[in-house]
Order: sequence, then C-alpha cells, then structure tokens
Amino acid sequence: MDSLKVKNESNQMPYQFENSLEFAKSLDQGDQLSHIREQFILPSDLAASGGSSCVYLAGNSLGLQPRKAKEYINAELEDWAKLGVEGHLHARHAWLPYHEFVTDMSARLVGAKPSEVVVMNTLTVNLHLMMVSFYRPTKERYKIVVEKNAFPSDQYAVASQASFHGFDPATAIIELTPRPGADTLATEDILATLKQHGGEVALVLLGNVNYLTGQAFEVEKIAAEAHAQGAQFGLNLAHGAGNLELKLHDWQVDFAVWCSYKYLNAGPGGLSGCFVHEKHGHSFDLPRFAGWWGHNKEERFKMAPVFDPMPGAEGWQLSNPPIFQLAALRASLELFDQATMPKLRQRGDKLTAFMEYLLNSVEGFCSIITPSDIAQRGSQLSIRFKGDGKELLEQFKQKGVVCDFREPDIIRATPTAMYNTFEDVYRFYEVVKNFAGQK
Ligand SMILES: *Cc1c(COP(=O)(O)O)cnc(C)c1O
Repeated sequence: MDSLKVKNESNQMPYQFENSLEFAKSLDQGDQLSHIREQFILPSDLAASGGSSCVYLAGNSLGLQPRKAKEYINAELEDWAKLGVEGHLHARHAWLPYHEFVTDMSARLVGAKPSEVVVMNTLTVNLHLMMVSFYRPTKERYKIVVEKNAFPSDQYAVASQASFHGFDPATAIIELTPRPGADTLATEDILATLKQHGGEVALVLLGNVNYLTGQAFEVEKIAAEAHAQGAQFGLNLAHGAGNLELKLHDWQVDFAVWCSYKYLNAGPGGLSGCFVHEKHGHSFDLPRFAGWWGHNKEERFKMAPVFDPMPGAEGWQLSNPPIFQLAALRASLELFDQATMPKLRQRGDKLTAFMEYLLNSVEGFCSIITPSDIAQRGSQLSIRFKGDGKELLEQFKQKGVVCDFREPDIIRATPTAMYNTFEDVYRFYEVVKNFAGQK
C-alpha cells in the first residue's frame, strides 16, 4: 500500500492518502458533510445492471435532483390550483416577490451583497444583457479578451456583440492561448496580454472555471490588471457557482453570470444568476435593455410609460420569472446555505485530490490536464485517456460510471462536494484501472 502527500497550496494542509477501498470508506465516515448526499436522488436507471447505485461524476454538466425540489414545485402547483391569479399575493410563497426568496442565498454563494445579485432568465441571455451595459466599444477601445477554448455559446455571444457594434470579430476578439505544449493558461501570460493590448481592450470575459480544462483563474489579479488598463471585467461562472469559493464583491468584478443546472442542481434549463457590482448599481445612464420587472417595483403596476429602473442588479430584470424553476432553485440553494461554500470547497479539494492521487497511479493510460495546484481548480478533473474517449465513456457507463466527454479528446470527471463520496471516487478509479489493464 503506497501513500502520498499532496501539498495543498491554499492552506498548506497535506493530504495523506492510501490506495484502498477501506481507506476511501474511512474518509467518508470521518466526513462532516457526507450526510448531505441523502438529500439528493441518484439516477436509478444509470446504475450498472446488477450493481449498486451509479457513480455520478457529471454534476458539472447536470446536477442531481434535490429531494425537496418536487415538494417545493408541488406546493406551487397546489397554490396555483387553489388560488389562480390570487397566488401572486397569497401563495404560501407569494409569486410577486418570489425571486427575492433566492437573493440572499445567491449572494452568499458568490460573495456578493444582496443588492448585487438577481436570478433571472438563462445564462446566455444574461451574458448578452450584461454586455449591452458593460461592452461599450469605441473606435479605439473595442476589443474583447476571452479564452481560446471558451464555451461555444460564449464565443457566439462575444462575436455577435462585436458585430452588432459594427466591428469584425476576427480583429475584435483576442483569444488567450496556452503556451505551446501547455493545456492551461499561465496567469502571467494573461496579465501580459492585457498589458500589451491595454488601450484597445473594452472587456475581459473569462469562464471560471474553464469548462474544458477545469482551470480556475486568479480572478483578483486579472480583474485588477483589466481595470488598470481601463477595461471592464466579467465572469461566466457556469462552472464556478456552487463549485468555487467566490468573492465577487471584494474582487471588484464588474459583472458575472451563472447557470443553476450544473453544480447548483436546480434542474434542466434552470435559471441564471446575475451579479452587477455595487459600483454600477446606480449607474442609470448605462445603456440597458429594459422590461417591466426591472422597473421600480412600487410603481410597476401603475404601468407608467417611462422606464424607471430599480437600483442594483434587479434593475436588469425583464420579465416576471418562472416560479417552478425558482422553486427548484430554492430547494437546492437551501442545501448550499446549510453546508456553506468554504466547507464545501474544502471537501471538494480533498475529493478531487484523492481522485488525482488514484489516477496518477494508472499513469500511461490517462493524464490529467487540470492544474495540480489546488488554488487553480475546483472539483472537476479533465482527463485525456489512451484510445477513443467517446468509446471509453460508453464503456464506463456500462459499469455504472457517469462522466462526460468534450471534443476533441477530454473526459471530465467531477466528484462534486455536495453529493459525491470518496467511495465513488474509488469505484471510478477501479473501473479506470480495469480498462488500463486491457489496453
Ligand atoms: C453551460 C454553459 C453555458 C450554457 O449556456 P445556457 O445559456 O445556459 O444554455 C454557457 N457558457 C458556459 C461557459 C457554460 O459552461
């Protein structure tokens, strides 16, 4: 039995791991948060035939269903049946202010003040709404800095924004590219790019963590440099919210958007969160696309012809929100509030380090491209396997292991801090080891 110390850069706590199922089980037993898994439903149809529950490592793509989600949605269905239109005011959770029931929890989740966050729309919609206000190109300063392998929706969104303002995306978009032979970006290279193009950059937009590589960026440093160069700084937290410990307010991020169906477990098509820093909360002169839900709520039903935006993030709302989706999100966010992000991240770091330790022992068959520095990643590991990744994914599935595949050759495996166990990680490793033996 071998053991290994993995240095934890952020808190200097070394992990002492052993390669055995008993050891994995002992980590689960000693764990303060392992009981939260019982609050989730594991997909019964994904278990291997004759096997126990599946090993669900795809929470970065679609999170599991919280047991309370059905109860909360059912309560709204019942109130709708009983009250009809009166539900807006008299439902047990009145529909009119319903989005406010998730505001404080969302703010705690991302390190923001309640006035800085709102849940509305879906992610790419919010990204566009934010760029309407925070991408304001001029003839001299019109470029947008993004990661080279940004999520496609983000690439389409920034390119279409540049075109909308009359610029050619081919020159308006600056892509941050890893050094030759590297998969992830060096912070100093990002800072150097910002310095080099400083006067031309209108907006820096990063995914945190990067959906493909799992790299978490050093946000505070990059935001400071973006601002020093006179650019706005935005984050897409699709893979960050509910995964990383975030301090959006303190880091001086100008805006951020995230979805709730990945780490936040609010169900397919779940709503998006949106953060606007307090410093912009009263900037009523910013261009913005308006709708009645962003209008001063005391006056909303007077149906006045002129838009009077609410201060803070709420002033960017367009429509009255979908209550069933918000109900599912409430169920999920309550669990984040109970667990707290610092504790979840601590647990996630350990789960991921354990997975890394085990996979490193099947070297030659797989290599991890996610940074080994714990400060530069969340729970996801992006792995290159020998052979055809897509085929391997199918074979994992036969064994009850659920991961996902991203072109060209990456398998993402994510032991989420919310509901995965050290035993899950070990069972994944055993399946990998078996396939390695066959190659
Ligand atoms: C998941 C994800 C999206 C998806 O956008 P939707 O508008 O919710 O469909 C966009 N960007 C990133 C980085 C993502 O990870």
